[in-house]
Amino acid sequence: KKVLVVVGTRPEAIKMAPLINLLKKQDWVDCRVLATAQHRQLLDQVFEIFGIEADIDLDVMRPNQSLPELTSRLLTLLDVVLKDEQPDVVLAQGDTTTVMAVAMACFYRRIKFGHVEAGLRTGDMDNPFPEEMNRIVAGRLANWHFAPTENSRQNLINEGFATEEIHVTGNTVIDALLDVVQRCDEDAPSVGVGRRLVLVTSHRRENFGAPFREICQAVRALVENNSDIEVLYPVHPNPNVREVAYELLGGVERVTLCEPLDYLPFVAAMKSAYLIMSDSGGVQEEAPALGKPVLVLRNETERPEAVKEGVVKLVGPNSDAILLEAQRLLDDPDYYQSIARGVSPYGDGYASQRIVEILRGATKV
Ligand code: UDP
Repeated sequence: KKVLVVVGTRPEAIKMAPLINLLKKQDWVDCRVLATAQHRQLLDQVFEIFGIEADIDLDVMRPNQSLPELTSRLLTLLDVVLKDEQPDVVLAQGDTTTVMAVAMACFYRRIKFGHVEAGLRTGDMDNPFPEEMNRIVAGRLANWHFAPTENSRQNLINEGFATEEIHVTGNTVIDALLDVVQRCDEDAPSVGVGRRLVLVTSHRRENFGAPFREICQAVRALVENNSDIEVLYPVHPNPNVREVAYELLGGVERVTLCEPLDYLPFVAAMKSAYLIMSDSGGVQEEAPALGKPVLVLRNETERPEAVKEGVVKLVGPNSDAILLEAQRLLDDPDYYQSIARGVSPYGDGYASQRIVEILRGATKV
């Protein structure tokens, strides 16, 4: 049997790496890796960390490429690959344009498609940003839904999918995290004696503009109000993020702006952090497993499990809410401990193993 794993961006590479490495060890399957390279440099470093090489690279990104342009190029290029490769199964993860295009390309060629991290929903289709639509299209076209949690399984049931197509596996991000967490300590950032580290990331389209300015203003006020904290902020390459971050936080005392970190130093930074502020999906899933509170810089999340569990806080890109919650976590040790419990609703590190076993059974080898 031949399985083609498709990845486009950094989080997809992180979340698919454990699955790729496990598939590569199986004697019943030939696992091939296709990088669309929707984010070139962020994806390459992840492959290196996990010892993966792409068999096929579409290098699809062009400067200022619109989403319709990206989608149509992807569809055309993917169709050629599927025709040449003739895989029995294609796997892709998450909610990017790559995932939606792969699901469609498989549909046109009648090739079976497995959606990893299936069933996440905000329920908000009015949001003009494409992730919810990408998830819905990929789900609609999938033959297997690998849902990370019971909640995501329930979303798929509510949309009418057959129970036998849905498998709760946990999220492969925890497999990746547990793989690197023991080998990242020498990459830890240096933090001043007696200081607490606040780690910040932000890159979502929905926060571009005024919301992102509020986030930066809140970070600045927090550092100015607390002489014992330091901020580390790996800035996403998107100019909408980069220009504002350097304008509002560049040169501010105890704020370090840096390039996106490789996965090992980033996990080391999460481990060293007292508090994390992020609008990232992956970070919301990883931080609870490391016992680190996250303030989610969004108004909604397709990952409600950790919010319900009380281990992350949905504050929105709102300066007052960010400052209120962050200050409480800095000042109240009992409150901090009630959140930093090290409870992860997203998996136990065996998600990839479950997916491989399901595929093996389903492809009857
Ligand atoms: N990450 C990283 N370096 C960074 C910031 C994030 O390696 O400088 C990792 C993080 O641990 C997580 C993933 O990248 O696994 C999240 O990617 P991103 O925030 O770009 O996307 P999202 O998860 O929101 O789709």
